Amino acid sequence: MIIEIRAKTMLSTVPGGDGYFGHRYNFNIYRGCEHRCIYCDSRSECYGIENFEDVLVKVNAIELLSQELPRKRVKGVVGTGSMSDPYTYAEKQYQLTRQALSLLARYGFGVSLITKSDMVTRDGDVLTEVNRSFASVCFTLTTTDDELARKVEPGAPSPTRRLAAMRMLADQGLHVGVTLMPVLPFLEDHLDNIKAIVESAVDHGAQYILPWFGMSMRDRQRSYFYARLDELFPGLRRRYEARYGLSYGCPVPEAKRLQAEFDQLQQKFGFGTRVPVPQKEPQQTQLRLL
Ligand code: SF4
Repeated sequence: MIIEIRAKTMLSTVPGGDGYFGHRYNFNIYRGCEHRCIYCDSRSECYGIENFEDVLVKVNAIELLSQELPRKRVKGVVGTGSMSDPYTYAEKQYQLTRQALSLLARYGFGVSLITKSDMVTRDGDVLTEVNRSFASVCFTLTTTDDELARKVEPGAPSPTRRLAAMRMLADQGLHVGVTLMPVLPFLEDHLDNIKAIVESAVDHGAQYILPWFGMSMRDRQRSYFYARLDELFPGLRRRYEARYGLSYGCPVPEAKRLQAEFDQLQQKFGFGTRVPVPQKEPQQTQLRLL
C-alpha cells in the first residue's frame, strides 16, 4: 500500500562523514520498500516502521529540501538509499528522487546513491548534472544468480538488470560501483559467488566494490528473515540459530578467507573499495557580508 505523509525535516548530517560511501548528509524520501529483501535491516524495531512493505511517501520532500539545502554552509556529498531504496516502485509515479537530484545539482551538492533498481537509468541526465560536483551510484549485489535473488530479494529487479543498468551509467561517465553486502551465511558465502560478483561488476564498469562478508540480525528483522528461511530453505534456520544466537553482527564462517580472496581479486583488477568522493576541502556557501 502507498501512504502519503508529510515529513518535518529531510536532511540529516552524518557525524564525521561516512567513510565507505563518502557522504556528509543523508536523506530518505521513502519509508518502507517494495523490494522486500528478506534480510532487510530496516525492519528492525529501532526504525519504527510497522509494515515495511507499505511505502510511506514524504510528499513534501522537495519543498523541505528546497529550504534545507541552501541553508547548509558546508556543501558535500548527500547519501540516499541506506534505509529504503530511492528507486522503489513508487518512484515511477512520484519522481521525488529525480526532483531531489535536480535540487542537488542546482545547489552544488554531490550524491552517493545505493539502489537495487535499474529505474535509476531513467535519471542518467540529472545524475550527469549532479556529477559536476560528484555522483556515485552503487548497485547492491549479493549474488549474480537471478533465481537465488528472486528468493532473497523477491521485489527487486534481477542482478542481470542491475548489471546492465550499471554498464549504461558507466558509459555515461558516472561513478558506479557495487555494494557487496550482505553476504548471507550458508547461502551466498562461497568463493564462486564472490568471484562471480566481482568479475561481473568489473565487466560492467564498476570502479569500486564495497564488501562485507556477513549480515546483521536483530529483533523484528531476525523474525522476518527466519520465517522466510523456513518457507524457502527448510531446516536452514537451525544452522543460523546454532551459530549466531542473538548476535547482531553475523560474519559468515569463512569471512577471513573470503576477504583474503577478495583482496587478491582487488589487486588483480585494480578497483577501489570506497566511493571515490573528491578529496578537496568542502566548499563553503559564500556568505554575503552586510
Ligand atoms: S532494497 Fe534495500 S531497503 Fe529495500 S528491502 Fe532491500 S535491503 Fe531493504
